[in-house]
Amino acid sequence: MNCKFMPGCLLKSKPFRTRKIDPIESPCKKTIYNSLIDAKESIVYLQENKGAKDLSAYKCTICGFWHLTSK
Ligand SMILES: [Zn+2]
Repeated sequence: MNCKFMPGCLLKSKPFRTRKIDPIESPCKKTIYNSLIDAKESIVYLQENKGAKDLSAYKCTICGFWHLTSK
């Protein structure tokens, strides 16, 4: 049986809900993060290693990914 076109099978094989957006085609020039967790990890890294301050993550309405912004 070919279950290639059955949505149920497709969902089972994809544990993560990923958007069908190619990061390379993102209209945004900013660094993109796939999730809030990724963005927050990056914030911690930047604050500890680069001395960055007041960074926060926000979900971009244009590309659907997460960006960092400073106040
Ligand atoms: Zn964006």
